[in-house]
Amino acid sequence: MTKKSVAKEAEEILLATDMIKLGARLQVLQAETSLSYDRLARLYREVRGCSPPKGMLPFSVDWFMTWLPNIHSSVFYSVYRYLDTHTPAKKSRALVEAYRLYIEQADAGLGTPPGEEPVLSFTRAWMLIRFFDSNLVQLSHCERCKGGFIAHAHDPQTGFVCAICRPPPRAGKTRKRRATTAASKPVPVKTSDPLVPSDA
Ligand SMILES: [Zn+2]
Repeated sequence: MTKKSVAKEAEEILLATDMIKLGARLQVLQAETSLSYDRLARLYREVRGCSPPKGMLPFSVDWFMTWLPNIHSSVFYSVYRYLDTHTPAKKSRALVEAYRLYIEQADAGLGTPPGEEPVLSFTRAWMLIRFFDSNLVQLSHCERCKGGFIAHAHDPQTGFVCAICRPPPRAGKTRKRRATTAASKPVPVKTSDPLVPSDA
């Protein structure tokens, strides 16, 4: 009979707790830890004070290709890849740390009002890494800013221009609407916008 290491289990509980706080769905926790469904559901209720949501995970590659999700996901994935490659934080730990950094950046850029969901949810961020692992998506490099952006696997790389360098016409309207919403509430407005080039 195999006995589970207590230290390993403690580590997994801490990891699951961090993921729940960031908004992870139960299916994500099941995939990333060896904890039982019952224990994870109990942990979820303890951390969030409510039952875990039921239903399917968002399973769409195309979502990542629309312009605003594409920018957010590309920022997240670049941070994730850096952490996973160059720091002791690997795989699920890198995911947690990268998502935290993404949230910081997204908040600084858009002045996201409290309580509003970030563009990229934790579960979608996790999904994105799985899409990379199964070669459904790739990073294409923008010929203008040289940044790496998420694209369908096997999309031609030559002549690729990212959604920051060439935003769609409706991009400004969404940003303005968000800015108006943010301005109507007493939220501290931050001037730095790391998601937008400085000459924008
Ligand atoms: Zn670009």
